[in-house]
Amino acid sequence: MKILSVNAGSSSLKFQMYEMPEEKVLISGVFERIGIDNSLYTIKINGEKIKKETVLTNHKDAVRILIKELLENKVIKSLDEIKGIGHRVVHGGDRYAKSTVITEDVIKTIDELSSLAPLHNPANLMGILAFKEEVPDAVSVAVFDTAFHQTMPKESYIYAVPYEWFTKYGVRRYGFHGISHDYLTRTLKKVLKNDKPNLITCHLGNGGSISAIKDGLCYDTSLGFSPNAGLVMGSRSGDIDSSIIPYIMSKTDKSLEEVMSDLSKKSGLLGVSGVSSDSRDVEDGINNNNERCILAQKLYINRVIEYIAKYYVELGHVDALCFAGGIGENSISTRKEILEGLACLGIKFDEKDNDFRGEFKLITKKDSSIPCYVIPTDEEVMIARDTYNLIEG
Ligand code: ADP
Repeated sequence: MKILSVNAGSSSLKFQMYEMPEEKVLISGVFERIGIDNSLYTIKINGEKIKKETVLTNHKDAVRILIKELLENKVIKSLDEIKGIGHRVVHGGDRYAKSTVITEDVIKTIDELSSLAPLHNPANLMGILAFKEEVPDAVSVAVFDTAFHQTMPKESYIYAVPYEWFTKYGVRRYGFHGISHDYLTRTLKKVLKNDKPNLITCHLGNGGSISAIKDGLCYDTSLGFSPNAGLVMGSRSGDIDSSIIPYIMSKTDKSLEEVMSDLSKKSGLLGVSGVSSDSRDVEDGINNNNERCILAQKLYINRVIEYIAKYYVELGHVDALCFAGGIGENSISTRKEILEGLACLGIKFDEKDNDFRGEFKLITKKDSSIPCYVIPTDEEVMIARDTYNLIEG
């Protein structure tokens, strides 16, 4: 059965088509600069990468070209071969604890939830509506980035603010990157042959989050009401004292929107290093003795360790820890510094076992108190799996 996995952003659309249940990738690609000048798309098929420039005025244009490419490249013979289309949807609020088939009601709810995710849900909806129009017979499924975290107990998700902010306005921790944390949890359940493990899953990409998994379910997570909480990220501050916001507004002529934008686009590794939001550039800076890059990396590592330590205490017993995301999978020095900082928990590793990028591997020694794995995460396959499972019933 052919299933498309889709991630629509405001000006981009990523896709991957699978043969299910084999999970074989048939074609993948990305449409970029939708609605902007110089639009282009890239497709990968049979190990070949093809890049083309074209006009993409909206998401529907991208979907039409995608269908044309699928037919021309003989990935499908006719449209009715596409049985399901799974869409990543960032915010499911407290309405969705699982993936769901998209009905008119679901579309309305995703739209209503846009007030919680103004940058993401409207873009996700554009993708959903474009495919509904162009491929009307396929089953559409929404796979939410928040759903996995819905098992958190109240003490993990309530903020210490006036309680009616929660009851009236939905102010609570929702958590994000749930599709990745779910993938990591399912993978470790299989590896450990344990259906109810206690885990700490670290998704360290450009955005980053850590989750505590108790008895196989999400118990706590570092992202919060919005995707700017918890860890130091590429350009996001993560946790800060909220009083900084009005203080900076009073000291500069910046509006609330500008200060909020600085906290998400000019902070994190970029803000502290002054060099880049990309951890590779920060690593280069460290190798050249750039003091601010050294400082940025220290803040990054310290925050990761703080969260792992907090979750270690919350869980009481941890069966495994894992690293994923661009940095978790590839940055040898970041993993090393985090694991060194956790030595007091009895975590032991050998540097040569950590000297690799981008593959599944156990990196700790046999006598380590907690085994630690590197797991290349795969959000696209999770979307395809949930879509397939909902169609198959
Ligand atoms: P996103 O959150 O946008 O999906 P990714 O998971 O792709 O982000 O992670 C991007 C981060 O991964 C960047 O900071 C990048 O520097 C880092 N990264 C990717 N490859 C490497 C590498 N080989 N070494 C160190 N860091 C890497």
